[in-house]
Amino acid sequence: MANTRSRISTDIDFERAGKQEGFLRLPHSVHRSAYGYIPIPIVTVRNGKGPRVLLSAGNHGDEYEGQIALTKLARTLEPEAVSGQVIILPMANFPAAQAGTRTSPIDGGNLNRIFPGNPDGGPTEIIAHYIESVLMSQVDVAVDLHSGGSSLLYIPGTLARRHADPAKLDTVLGLVRAFGAPMSYLMGPGGEDRSILAAAERAGITAISAELGGAGMVTRETLALTERGVLNVLRHLGVLAGKPEPHPVRILEVVRARHYVYSPDGGLFEPRAELGDAAKTGQLAGLVHFPDTPWREPTPVHFVGDGLVVCKRVPTRVERGDCLYHLAGDLGL
Ligand SMILES: [Zn+2]
Repeated sequence: MANTRSRISTDIDFERAGKQEGFLRLPHSVHRSAYGYIPIPIVTVRNGKGPRVLLSAGNHGDEYEGQIALTKLARTLEPEAVSGQVIILPMANFPAAQAGTRTSPIDGGNLNRIFPGNPDGGPTEIIAHYIESVLMSQVDVAVDLHSGGSSLLYIPGTLARRHADPAKLDTVLGLVRAFGAPMSYLMGPGGEDRSILAAAERAGITAISAELGGAGMVTRETLALTERGVLNVLRHLGVLAGKPEPHPVRILEVVRARHYVYSPDGGLFEPRAELGDAAKTGQLAGLVHFPDTPWREPTPVHFVGDGLVVCKRVPTRVERGDCLYHLAGDLGL
């Protein structure tokens, strides 16, 4: 049984039918506000019987597609249209989302690397604990919307765990296909256990995430795809009436060891591959240049596996260890 004791309080009654809008109040005592709280916006829309779904964005504060799509949904979704419940959390790590940064400016916390959180920790840990132990204990499905943020740009896709259990994998692929993003990235077993997908697995619920674009911006296309994907998932689950619009989805797997390319040096990166390119092991990915020592030969960077280029770094200035690209490989699903 999850420990549901949290310092976060709310006027929202998640058991009540109808639409409620309000805040999760995270107590925060600082110089300018001794008895204040961090107001994390939340909306619940509940009606009759049906699946209960948590929709979240702003887990990373500089990923905007989901924040905008869920803001629009929070304004427009009415109880009459819903069978079950939709809980909308558009700025999950509120301090990070308000600052437009990946991590919290208060405690430096990266929400998606801190689950299961800690009810007695800093604000980011308290939020993680509340999501995993309180919110996830009352829903059946969670959808957490991400993108490449400030430093990365993705070919839009959903992200999910490649469950070893075929029944679980089937359920997840149902959500992935319903969402209808052009790509789907499945992460192999043994992955990150501090993410919201890991939290969902511990909570015993079905979850998918998404990497919807990035580069610190939104486009008309990525936003349309995000809004459509969320509605399609709700239709697929029967929370909303109607069927998901069919869209072709290419299911790919991501294996960090052979698909990620890191900068071996600090300098300026000249890319030699772009999103959508097919890359081969040993192929030149780019060159790191040294304008501070202009007579020095650039350092070449090579791909270490085969796959499709689905994610690339945005800023040209790189440090040793920065991720420059990641690939994804065909799964044949
Ligand atoms: Zn993210």
